[in-house]
This record gives sequence, C-alpha cells and structure tokens, in this order.
Amino acid sequence: MKAVTILGSTGSIGVNTLDVISRHRDHFDVVALSANSNEALMAEQCLTWQPRFAVMSDERAAEGLERRLEGTDTEVLSGPESLVRIAALPEVDAVMAAIVGAAGLLPTLAAAEAGKRVLLANKESLVMSGQLLIDAIRTSGADLLPIDSEHNAIFQCLPTDFASGLGRVGVRRILLTGSGGPFLKRRGEDLSDVTPEQACAHPNWVMGRKISVDSATMMNKGLEVIEACWLFDATPQQVQVVIHPQSVIHSMVEYVDGSVLAQLGNPDMRTPIAYGLGWPERTDSGVESLDLFSVAELQFERPDFEQFPCLRLAYEAMQTGGTATTVLNAANEVVVQAFLERRLRFSAIPGVLEGVLNDITSQPAESLEAILAADATARDQAQCRVDSVTSTDSGSQRINTV
Ligand code: NAD
Ligand code: MG
Repeated sequence: MKAVTILGSTGSIGVNTLDVISRHRDHFDVVALSANSNEALMAEQCLTWQPRFAVMSDERAAEGLERRLEGTDTEVLSGPESLVRIAALPEVDAVMAAIVGAAGLLPTLAAAEAGKRVLLANKESLVMSGQLLIDAIRTSGADLLPIDSEHNAIFQCLPTDFASGLGRVGVRRILLTGSGGPFLKRRGEDLSDVTPEQACAHPNWVMGRKISVDSATMMNKGLEVIEACWLFDATPQQVQVVIHPQSVIHSMVEYVDGSVLAQLGNPDMRTPIAYGLGWPERTDSGVESLDLFSVAELQFERPDFEQFPCLRLAYEAMQTGGTATTVLNAANEVVVQAFLERRLRFSAIPGVLEGVLNDITSQPAESLEAILAADATARDQAQCRVDSVTSTDSGSQRINTV
C-alpha cells in the first residue's frame, strides 16, 4: 500500500490522479487532499476517499468544509503551513504536486526535503527555483517523477542513469513537442480581441485555465523548456521545441548515433500520472489504446519566435539564469490573471513580460529568500505595467467584455 498526498486535488490533474487511483484501490491510500476554495468538490472527494487531512487554502472554504464533513474522520486544516505539513507527513510515500503556480512551491519543496516520491505537475515550482528544488531532491534522496506529459515522455525515453549526465549516456538533444495551442494557424493575425474562452479552448488537452492561457501564448512550452533543463540537467541549446499539432508524440530524445526515441499515446494526463504512481512498474491508467489508423498523419513544424515571443523570452531567461526565470514566472502569473479577468488584452501579454524582464536585473537564486524577493518584485512590476497599459486602454479588454 502506497500512501499518497494530493496537492490540488480539485484541479484537472488532481481529479485525474484520483481517477487513476480509483482503479487501484488496493495499492494506494489517500492520506491527504488539498484545494484552494472549491469546497463542494473537496467535500465530495473527502466522502469518497476518507483522507486523514483536507486542507483548504481559503479560510472561509475551510470553515464551510468543516461543516460539510461533520461526523467524519477527516480533519480540516487551512493555511500555507498545513500544505507543508501534509506534504511531509511521515506516513506519506508519494506527493502529487498539482497546485497551479507559485503557491505550489513551499509544499513541493517540503515533499522533496522529506524524501517523498515527488510527482511533479507544478512546473512553476521548478521554473521559480530550479536549483533549490533539485538540490533538495538530491540531498534527501527523493525520487522526482515528471508528470508534465512531455517530461514524462522524455523520462521514459532516457536510460535510468541519465542523472550521470546527458553526454555520458549518449544523448545529443531533447525534442520537446508542443501542439502550438489554439492560435497556431492564426500567424500574422491581430489577436488583440481574443477572449479568455477562446484562449482556453485547447485543441487537444482539457486543462486548468492558467495552463490553457500559457498554451495559447506558448509560454507553457517556454516554461517546459526551463523545466526540462532542470529535470535533465540540459542546456537550453540542447532542448529543441518541435510544433506537433496532433499531440500524439509527447516528446523525443535524440542520441549521438542518430537514434530518436519517442513516447506516443493519446493526449490524456492519466498516462503520465499512472506512470508516476506505479514507477518502476506499469499500471492501468484507464486510457484507451492509441488508434494510429485514425491519427493517420503526424506533422512537425519549427516554432516561430515572432509569432510566439513568450517562447523566446523563456529561452532567454533560462540563458540568463539566476532569478530571471523566477521573475518570468511571477510576471506571467500576473498577466495571465489580468487577461482572464479581462483587464489585459491577449496581444499585450508578451510586451508586459519583456518589460518586466528588462527592468529587473537577475540575482543569484541561491536561497529561498532571494527567490521569494524576486517573485514579489516581479509581481509588483508586472501589476504596475498591467495598470499602465490598462489606463491608456490600448491593452485593456474591458470594452469587449460580454
Ligand atoms: P487547475 O487550475 O485545474 O487546478 C489547480 C489546483 O490547485 C486546484 O485544486 C486548486 O484548488 C489549487 N489551487 C489553485 N490556487 C491555489 C492556491 N493559491 N493555493 C492552494 N491551492 C491552489 O490546474 P491544473 O490544470 O490541474 O494544473 C495544475 C498544475 O499542473 C499546474 O502547474 C500545471 O502547469 C500542471 N500541469 C497540468 C496539466 C494538465 O493537463 N492540466 C498538464 C501538465 C502540467
Ligand atoms: Mg506539458
């Protein structure tokens, strides 16, 4: 029996994780769940899974959940320290890190420090503080299993001793695939009136709203380049993004002898989740067989940095190093939120990010304090820029609100 904590259980990854676990009830024990504010879904999950702890980050939602769970054995907690607590419980073996954004950093770090199997969906924590997280994993001897489908694919295509160095195991480069998002075919068009609904309508994947917007700007692929550099100790030059609209090849690894290994499957996050939960064994995920006859065609394109400036910004931030990626991540969270709230036009996103990155000089990312300080400064700067763009109205979308 493996004891599991799921951070972000009410989200897209969290719900898929419980779906996989429901197929293997004899093998997994759900010890703790967490969510931000969705108390109704959390109550339902607690009644089904009877975890020891349920953490709601929102205090009022925690009070509401407590009332709903009266008479059950689940203890309701709230606050960031409770997230850290459930990530590091002595009886827990594996932690699914599926909170979205920087809010996932501290509990993910706690799971790493406590030597848990860390199932990493929360890519933002690596983008914010790659070195700290990787160091914590190495020091504690924890297993870090990538859940992001591309990184899970790469992990599957690498030999088990890849941590000794990509060069030593004969890897030439990583081919990171991405669908190109909902606006791939709109090259050169004016995207200033794009709505959050259009941006979140991903052609192949059903995901949370933040990652959906990131996919539309291709910042998601940029964050994934940075994630790949940290996970596999690669340079940005060793990570080639490949646009692959069908999302059937989830990524590839090229070796020095010219061999290219790929992992394929239906675009369904239950595959990487089941892989991470069961590793090193394979386990049923509920995902249907890939029907290559109906896929019929696989296409590939080179990414266009002019069409997707966010991808360029991510490569540049990784190249700069230090807190540059922390700044990029924080500013991106602010602009995505502003866009989702119709306070910023879609087309204004890259300009705000580039401005913030130019304004803030990268510092060594050597401590949690340095990272949290860079994160806070970048959020302030990004908010100022959003406000100034909005006040001149050239970047605001409010006029288009329906
Ligand atoms: P989501 O928005 O559907 O769910 C996010 C979860 O985090 C929810 O349970 C929510 O309650 C919780 N949460 C949000 N804000 C919080 C806060 N401030 N404090 C505490 N909890 C908070 O997001 P998702 O699509 O499930 O993505 C989760 C993570 O996984 C993201 O980092 C994303 O990049 C990554 N990821 C997702 C997918 C996917 O297919 N959805 C694929 C690859 C990677
Ligand atoms: Mg991905």
